[in-house]
Amino acid sequence: MSETTTDCLFCRILAGDIPADIIYESDTAIAFRDINPQAPTHVLIIPRKHVATINDIDPGDEEIVGSLYSAARDIAAAEGIAEEGYRAVMNCNEGAGQSVFHIHLHLLGGRTLSWPPG
Ligand code: AMP
Repeated sequence: MSETTTDCLFCRILAGDIPADIIYESDTAIAFRDINPQAPTHVLIIPRKHVATINDIDPGDEEIVGSLYSAARDIAAAEGIAEEGYRAVMNCNEGAGQSVFHIHLHLLGGRTLSWPPG
């Protein structure tokens, strides 16, 4: 798996080739607002490293993947949804709704979120 791919939408956002409303950046991850928000807060947190799906996470990527959750914690606090609650979810493959094949944590909040999801 290459580190970046020119045909990956999120790699192109990382490269600055496609605009996005970026609200968070760290050494390992960035976050930007979803273009089609499903909640008042809907942020996508992605690793700088290109990893297509959860199935493609390599041994040694744990710190990178963990950093997505640290970002979620900090963004939720900044968005004012940490106490009321929020969801951090990652879809894997088409059957679960994944449409962009560069792993991303959806951070959703600002409304009541039902369970189970559809
Ligand atoms: P998933 O279906 O889990 O792969 O999530 C992909 C998400 O990327 C969807 O919620 C889309 O709305 C979002 N998305 C697609 N293109 C863009 C874009 N250019 N900027 C921000 N979000 C996007």
